[in-house]
Amino acid sequence: MNDNKLIYFDNNATTKVDELVLEEMLPYFCEKYGNPSSMHTFGGSVGQKLKEARVRVADLIGANNPDEIIFTSCGTEGSNMALLGVLNANSGKKHIITTKVEHPCVLNAAKFLEKKGHRVTYLNVNSDGEIDLKEFEESLNEDTALVACMWANNETGVIYPVEKMADIAKEKNPRTKFFVDAVQAVGKIPVNAKNTNIDIISISGHKIHAPKGVGAVYIKKGTLINPLIIGGHQEKGRRAGTENVAGIIGLGKACEIAGEYLDDELTRVRALRNKLEKGIIKNVYNARINGSRDNRVPNTTNISFEYLEGELILLHLNDLGICASSGSACTSGSLEPSHVLKAMGTPFTAMHGSIRFSLSRYSTEEEVDTVIESLPLVIEKLNAISPFQSQLNQLKDLKIVNSR
Ligand code: PLP
Repeated sequence: MNDNKLIYFDNNATTKVDELVLEEMLPYFCEKYGNPSSMHTFGGSVGQKLKEARVRVADLIGANNPDEIIFTSCGTEGSNMALLGVLNANSGKKHIITTKVEHPCVLNAAKFLEKKGHRVTYLNVNSDGEIDLKEFEESLNEDTALVACMWANNETGVIYPVEKMADIAKEKNPRTKFFVDAVQAVGKIPVNAKNTNIDIISISGHKIHAPKGVGAVYIKKGTLINPLIIGGHQEKGRRAGTENVAGIIGLGKACEIAGEYLDDELTRVRALRNKLEKGIIKNVYNARINGSRDNRVPNTTNISFEYLEGELILLHLNDLGICASSGSACTSGSLEPSHVLKAMGTPFTAMHGSIRFSLSRYSTEEEVDTVIESLPLVIEKLNAISPFQSQLNQLKDLKIVNSR
């Protein structure tokens, strides 16, 4: 495999650091290495730069005030902070509502709270991966302390109506807090806390061309939330520990650039994703798209190749220098089918053969053309050795009939 020809279509797992982001970070390692909490000017100037980063993050997600932004180490910390922090601060209330398709950082935090005596409602999704607002409304009650719903799903890209859900939640119970994991939404679709009933939003640097090890949480003014990390006064006592200065500066710059690139994502990247998807579906008779086609972030497609194993397809793609994923980064590596596809009721024959392609601003038409050309050959080869020949033949016949 030639690294120069690498086609990286796994941007929902992580992204390349933007060179402008790196450039802005570099002075804060060996030159401007002061502690932002220090009294001297050397450290104080670093503190000023952190303020700028806070403003940049606040601007991207529409916070009213930069003080509503707290820097974290990652998206996982943000979700943990929201779930554990809100429940700890509202000890009287016991009920949480989330969905069956959340990232493990929410699902496992919810399971942890369940073991501690809290009650959790896991909302269902339909075959398109979408939730039923009526089911959501009916699950809210006087005891609901928190709703946790992702803005966009990491595996399918499906978008959730979080603004509307937050309105419903507040109308039913004004004291219920509403948390949104926006890790896969920010930079891909408009994410705006302003004039919404959303209380907490988490984002992660490494999904938006900033480095790994940094993230942020928006906490609306007045929202009670106990810190996860207790110690010094950093982040106004809401997240102790000396700040990851260079990482935070990188996140700030990445947020600024993400805002500038949003139109590119919504138009050029979307067109590339659609071309890739169309090219694959047209040329592979046992391919089917998972998740709503209309209601998705622009960079993601999740395609099942029926009667095949996703891992085997990935290995063949890897040999061609094409990076994709067979599910979320955290679940791939296990033979368990994706909990997201399971919740969607995806047929068993399609669940094991799903591949996620996730593009970015660095993706090109040439790369898309290469995948459209090489993937059908890989699938043809694997179909030929599949033990499910009669089922595959049926699918082939069906496709021929449908295309007439
Ligand atoms: N939430 C979603 C939707 C994700 O896709 C991810 C990572 O894949 C996370 C949270 C966790 O983010 P991090 O890797 O920064 O902990």
